[in-house]
Amino acid sequence: MDKLILSFNDFKKSKKIVVQNEKFNFECDQDDIVKGADLFFSFEANKYDDIINVVGQIKGSMTFECSRCLTSFEQNVDMGFECSWTKEEFEFDILKEIKETVFLNIPAQPLCKKDCKGLCQYCGNNKNIKDCFCEQNRIDEFVAEKWSKIKKLKI
Ligand SMILES: [Zn+2]
Ligand SMILES: [Zn+2]
Repeated sequence: MDKLILSFNDFKKSKKIVVQNEKFNFECDQDDIVKGADLFFSFEANKYDDIINVVGQIKGSMTFECSRCLTSFEQNVDMGFECSWTKEEFEFDILKEIKETVFLNIPAQPLCKKDCKGLCQYCGNNKNIKDCFCEQNRIDEFVAEKWSKIKKLKI
């Protein structure tokens, strides 16, 4: 489904349209962050005299790439949306609104967990899985080098 256009004509028989758990494709140009999406929407659209009001929910899951350790992880999605349009506008693409809602909720820097330790800047090891001692070794090397210079100066 690419579009879901509702117009005032759709409300001739009934003043209410209900859609439940409809799957939709979500693609965006932030594919370095968003690795996948499995999303569904539900909504209730009500027509009042000159206005149609939509209240809905987007559920499912999205796969993001952690900005620190670059591991893909899945996150549950549960977000609401609301939109309305008037008789002058006549019709409205609800799917566009739904996709925009998802888009606006994409974290700028997703984290697989709050305290993700990230990758080691020296060896690339994922520090969540195991520790490496690169940083400590660098400090030790640095200190050893300093000492050797000081010793040389004394001689
Ligand atoms: Zn992470
Ligand atoms: Zn390391």
